[in-house]
Amino acid sequence: MALGAGPRTGDVYVVEVPVSGADAVAELTRRQFDIASVHGGVVEVYAVAEELVLLAELGYSWRVLGRDGDGTKALDEYNGYASVTALLDAYAQAYPAIARLESAGPSVQGRELWVLYISDHPGLEEDEPEFKYTATIHGDEPLGTELCLYFIDLLLTEYGHTPRITALVDNTAIAIMPLMNPDGREAGTRGNAHGVDLNRAFPRYPADYTGSIGDGEPLNTAGRQPEVARVMEWTAANRFVLSANFHTGSLLVNYPYDEDGVPSGADAPTPDDALFEDVARCYSRQNLPMWNSVEFADGISNGSAWYVIFGSMQDWNYRYMACNDVTIELSYAKWPAAGTLPAFWDDNREAMLQYLEAVHIGVRGIVTDALTGQPVDARVTVEGNAQPVFTDPDVGDYHRMLLPGVYTLTLQAEGYHPRTFTNLTVTTGPATRADAALVPLGAVFDADVNDDGDVNAVDIQLVVNDVLGLPVPIDGDINGDGDVNAVDAQLVINAALVR
Ligand SMILES: [Zn+2]
Repeated sequence: MALGAGPRTGDVYVVEVPVSGADAVAELTRRQFDIASVHGGVVEVYAVAEELVLLAELGYSWRVLGRDGDGTKALDEYNGYASVTALLDAYAQAYPAIARLESAGPSVQGRELWVLYISDHPGLEEDEPEFKYTATIHGDEPLGTELCLYFIDLLLTEYGHTPRITALVDNTAIAIMPLMNPDGREAGTRGNAHGVDLNRAFPRYPADYTGSIGDGEPLNTAGRQPEVARVMEWTAANRFVLSANFHTGSLLVNYPYDEDGVPSGADAPTPDDALFEDVARCYSRQNLPMWNSVEFADGISNGSAWYVIFGSMQDWNYRYMACNDVTIELSYAKWPAAGTLPAFWDDNREAMLQYLEAVHIGVRGIVTDALTGQPVDARVTVEGNAQPVFTDPDVGDYHRMLLPGVYTLTLQAEGYHPRTFTNLTVTTGPATRADAALVPLGAVFDADVNDDGDVNAVDIQLVVNDVLGLPVPIDGDINGDGDVNAVDAQLVINAALVR
């Protein structure tokens, strides 16, 4: 039996397994070997000795490429945990107005999972979409950490100098976790210090959860690896709209689902498949080696269509958090030479910016209680799309990423009358606004709308104006007889009904 997420302890071998076709890949994924990549007729697997025996029993040959954890000592120009920590600390101190450093909690061996928040009010909840980049969930794939550091430097040093960067930082709540698996990074291993592949160790749908956090499904971290549990809590606290996690070993953007009950190699589209294709291309188009891939059309693929994995972070983000998360493979070489880092940054800088900017497409708004003005936990659905998103309970803001088109969008919350917006037009530009003050079920309003101590035709006209969306000029004396009375009220009602 292969070990799934792990733990894999003792010697873990990196092996190449030649396979004859998609059926063989499907068999290996079904048996939950820890596949790191699939390229044509070769699958790369991280396996302990007993798994190598099983591979042989199943009729596969394999070739050992190396041992997990080997080959890291010569690569000192990369930033390990200590220098990542020092750099992030220095950035936070140098740019206190727009950067704040926090830890999402410790790893198995007590290293912090650092998060640098970058925004005009870092760490404060505002009516802004929240975005995250995470890197190095696999400890032997450290290139993403370096790109995150370059990206942090770009945002902080260009803020106030480059209008595009200034606008991004002012209008987005950006969070960057450059090193999600610091213990694995230090050891040069794929898994964490327990020998577990963290990108196979997130809750599995539907075995571990069946709904979304916004629909009340509890956040259950029991039994999870520490790094996974801390990232789950951090993600749940921030309600990210769009995100990506960086890997190496291949070159593409892959998007959910990684697993949806179909065989490995078969497409497993989400309800937002067209959106995912679009944002994946938004990244790959700016990265010429990726865009020109001969292996993946446009440098993108559905996860399951590439190869199925169980318990991935991106599927959990999408299904449980309603966050559009993708997996970005940056390089065929897992740990490219340090001297090539500037070239990788060149290939990814514009892609990272445009992908971040994509968080602003679609429809956005704030949902409040019509009586109290307080934020409401609301469910946001779009006609013809089964995936809901939810308001961020701290501010009541929602950000529904949508491609250009005309949509019917409904806001629902327990204990409130729902509100539907029809013919909402989304363009390629910034999100269309659709705010709503939801009326509590059974609410009784004071009919004295203008608070003049009298309920009369003026109040009725105010209500009618509001319903019809008319501008404000109010003269309750509709018939001009010098008196506001029931006759005027009748005239207003007649006018409203004629409409
Ligand atoms: Zn990886």
